[in-house]
Amino acid sequence: MKIVVGKLNDNFQYVVNLNNKTYNLSNVVEGETLEVSVNKEKRSIKIDKIINASKERIKPVCSIYERCGGCKLLHVNYDYQLKLKTEMVKRLFIENNYKCHVNDVIGMKEPYEYRNKNQVVFGYDEKRRIVSGFYEEFSHRIVNFTNCAVQDKIADKIVNFIKELMFKMHIMPYDEDKQKGLIRHVMVKRSKVLNETMVVIVTSTEVFPGRNNFLKALLSSNKEITTVIQNINSKKTTQVLGDKEIVLFGKGYINDILCDKKFKISSKSFYQINPIQTKVLYETAINAAKLTKEDVLLDAYSGVGTIGIIASSKVKKVISVELEKQAVQDAIINAKLNDIKNIHFYNDDATRFIINLANKKERVDCVVLDPPRKGSTEQFLKAVLKLKPNKIIYISCDPHTQVVDLKHLVNDYKITFVQPVDMFPHSGHVENIVCLERK
Ligand code: SAH
Repeated sequence: MKIVVGKLNDNFQYVVNLNNKTYNLSNVVEGETLEVSVNKEKRSIKIDKIINASKERIKPVCSIYERCGGCKLLHVNYDYQLKLKTEMVKRLFIENNYKCHVNDVIGMKEPYEYRNKNQVVFGYDEKRRIVSGFYEEFSHRIVNFTNCAVQDKIADKIVNFIKELMFKMHIMPYDEDKQKGLIRHVMVKRSKVLNETMVVIVTSTEVFPGRNNFLKALLSSNKEITTVIQNINSKKTTQVLGDKEIVLFGKGYINDILCDKKFKISSKSFYQINPIQTKVLYETAINAAKLTKEDVLLDAYSGVGTIGIIASSKVKKVISVELEKQAVQDAIINAKLNDIKNIHFYNDDATRFIINLANKKERVDCVVLDPPRKGSTEQFLKAVLKLKPNKIIYISCDPHTQVVDLKHLVNDYKITFVQPVDMFPHSGHVENIVCLERK
């Protein structure tokens, strides 16, 4: 049947209502006329023909785009992607009655191969061939790929080499259903600036037959690798990394330079995946805070201490709080690497920590918070009100949860700056910085 595509939802899909059922149609553009057919058994809808294609439509640069859940917008040109993301953030602020200006999203000049971290799952296809790639959206089928539009080329090359090496050495990928086989995932983290490369091989058991030969072959053909780690994950879980790690080669971590500061990156700690846009994000956020040498800055949800360390020279003191122990350990090393002495790290739940600060009536002039996708907590935001900082900088990787959290702050604070940043081109995500000043 024929349909005309209307407004897309926030997942960049068009929701079609047919016979009291809803179907989500991906890879379409508003205004297009399509011929579609419904598969009642699979409860899915498919495009048979694009009758009238939008002028924004382009040929995706990826051959598996339709099946892989990673990218959502490769079928439209990049300027249009930015327009859609800006519109989404603007709409969220209007719907929530925030009367403030929202700037246009800051995009990338070259929005490809931007990631510094690749993570692929290994397994078999229907013909029992070894495959590596991403899970198909909402499924456990692996979409094999050798070349990804947003990933680092050297990292792709290393993963492809490992896949061939496994075939040659008869090393089995892990089979989730049978719970047999060895290699579950491979993660590659890179510092493009320093050309340091970490390879993490996630195995189901510590026993790794042929490990030395595997390592020798890997290193001799991939000179970019500076460290190799075996991570053991024997649990039946969707989590990628297990607890135990063995360093097989090199120092067990890599370094990176970001905003002129040096950072230690370990396998497990959170580190922003788009280095070019992270610089834009951090500099925009720190500039918006208009920090002074008298200020005490609280960096909440601080990861490996990046924002606090980068802002430290502009303030009197930084207090950082982060839940993950390993990230805090890395943060302490990062401060030392950069010879920074006015920063203090706390390994705690951000909410518990800030309630304590507020009860002790500690002085805090600016709070930067950068919580995970689900947002912060009501108690955290109420404690911020008690602390009465002059400024709050809320960095969010999901503006949907951010606009909900802002409700707790807008009686006492005025939104003075809203700046979305495209940290993940071609995906459905957008990062957003909000600056609030005390009324
Ligand atoms: N600001 C950092 C990290 C942002 S990601 C950066 O830009 O790199 C969010 C961080 O919040 C992660 O490091 C995660 O471990 C941490 N986190 C998650 N829940 C938390 C909590 N309840 N308390 C403190 N930190 C938390």
